[in-house]
Amino acid sequence: MSTFDKTDDSVVVVIGSGAGGGTVAHELCEKGIKVVVLEAGPRLTIDDFHNDELAAYLQLTWLDKRIATGDWPAATLAPNAPNWIVKAVGGSTVHWNGISLRAQPHEFQAGTIYGNVEGATVADWPVTYDELDPYYSRAEDKMGVTGTHGIERHPANNNYKVLYNGAKRIGYSQISNARQAINSEFRDGRSACVQLGFCNQGCKMGAKWSTLYSEIPKAEETGNLDLRTGCMVLNIEHDASGKVTGVVYVDGDGNQQRQSARVVCVAGNSIETPRLLMNSASSLFPDGLANSSGEVGRNYTHHTGGITFGEFEKPVNMNRGITVPGAVFDEARHDPTRGFAGGYLMEAVSVGMMNFAVVGDPAGWGRDYTAYLGKYAHMAGVLLVGEDMPRAQNGVTLHDTERDQHGLPVPVVNVETHDNDIAMTDHFKGQADALLRAAGATSTRHVITVPATHNMGTCRMSDDASKGVVNSFGQTHDVKNLFVSDGSQFVTATTENPTLTIVALALRQADYIARQMTAKAL
Ligand SMILES: Cc1cc2nc3c(=O)[nH]c(=O)nc-3n(C[C@H](O)[C@H](O)[C@H](O)COP(=O)(O)OP(=O)(O)OC[C@H]3O[C@@H](n4cnc5c(N)ncnc54)[C@H](O)[C@@H]3O)c2cc1C
Ligand code: SF4
Repeated sequence: MSTFDKTDDSVVVVIGSGAGGGTVAHELCEKGIKVVVLEAGPRLTIDDFHNDELAAYLQLTWLDKRIATGDWPAATLAPNAPNWIVKAVGGSTVHWNGISLRAQPHEFQAGTIYGNVEGATVADWPVTYDELDPYYSRAEDKMGVTGTHGIERHPANNNYKVLYNGAKRIGYSQISNARQAINSEFRDGRSACVQLGFCNQGCKMGAKWSTLYSEIPKAEETGNLDLRTGCMVLNIEHDASGKVTGVVYVDGDGNQQRQSARVVCVAGNSIETPRLLMNSASSLFPDGLANSSGEVGRNYTHHTGGITFGEFEKPVNMNRGITVPGAVFDEARHDPTRGFAGGYLMEAVSVGMMNFAVVGDPAGWGRDYTAYLGKYAHMAGVLLVGEDMPRAQNGVTLHDTERDQHGLPVPVVNVETHDNDIAMTDHFKGQADALLRAAGATSTRHVITVPATHNMGTCRMSDDASKGVVNSFGQTHDVKNLFVSDGSQFVTATTENPTLTIVALALRQADYIARQMTAKAL
């Protein structure tokens, strides 16, 4: 690993080492650019992971206080921890399940295709599917996504077989167990999956892609990466012209440091990224850095969610094998005749015993409830992942008085659910119930899932500087050498799990930054 001088103003500073940050840092290092990654969390190894839900959650999760407001379930069920985001090298790619799907071409033109959705801020993306297509392909290769680049699919586990058979019986045809960034065979220095079933807890085999053991070590091998862990960035600084000059952070020993920079890429995920921009307000940027549009912190999306569990006469043992082993795609289309805009996925999902008890009924008690928990081995799960509507009032603001351990205002995450999200969820419940019963379920139960694992929007893209924070390359409209490199850039949620799109955008952004640096435009 390299160490660069804190006064070296030729480096690119990347804040966060997850899907977006880890990818952009690696790509820049491969192009010969010096990069300093500042990561708030520790660097863990595979040996540190716990095959235990609670221990893993406490080990990996960003637990600094956040405050949830609005009418979403997180406001009552997880009022101080509404977003499930990792604080560690690798970011949320340590916790994630690995399902890796491309957004659909029409979803990049949601504004045009969905038309005016009252009370929502649906808009077109300033980048098209065709422009992203080669980057999707590179991302799939890099991450080793099954069903692409000749990579074998995983065998079907019982949970997937329930989904598949139920789906077929109710007339669905687009069902697949492909597209996981989980090795089905040894590839790229990573082992093959042995179907342990603890994907969420950090993969002990290293079979699941994570920037922790893919991009970060590869970037280090180039000699161009200086990774500093336990370093929480507090503020981004700029000169009198408004150009970013460096960042101020607290290091692992609690000392304040400053790192100069030629370019800064913020990849703290959709809560911390806007929070950092707002915390970097100055006399030149009184409403927050890069916030002349007023859009920093707005248009937050997190996907419509929930799980329907079906109980079967014989054991399913949903926990055996990959956590999200496959999905039904038939409802992922935009078809307003169903009573809502956008689409949703039905993904086979398992949860561990602890989560099963928590999501089943957070206040559950008594004989009926324990009888339900006792049927865990006989349950199969179907997860809703759908396009929720972006809204101006949904997003991140800074709390007036509450401060974190660094003295920074605590983020407030507000969500007011759109009627479209409710209609979509109701449709899912009916279909999931029908699917599970067609597969033989004797009863079903729909449960709410918190906290939000897919966090998107809050620094949206737009070609129009008055309507968005960044352009299609994630470059802020107001500050040329400041970039947003994570899921905060999303204009709309799209139906699909977001990480493959985050990685594709990061690859495209790295090419752009390198070109701009060569041309001395940055
Ligand atoms: C349980 C779970 C399951 C998931 N499953 C899937 C899935 O199957 N498919 C899918 O597509 N997505 C999935 N996701 C979502 C996926 O993990 C995220 O979309 C993705 O990792 C987001 O990438 P990111 O770069 O925006 O942020 P992250 O990967 O979260 O990285 C952000 C990093 O920034 C650091 N950071 C933040 N602020 C600062 C600061 N001020 N200073 C220094 N460092 C900072 C954080 O510590 C963190 O390491 C899942 C998430 C979870 C939690
Ligand atoms: S099922 Fe596969 S990806 Fe998940 S934890 Fe086990 S080995 Fe890793």
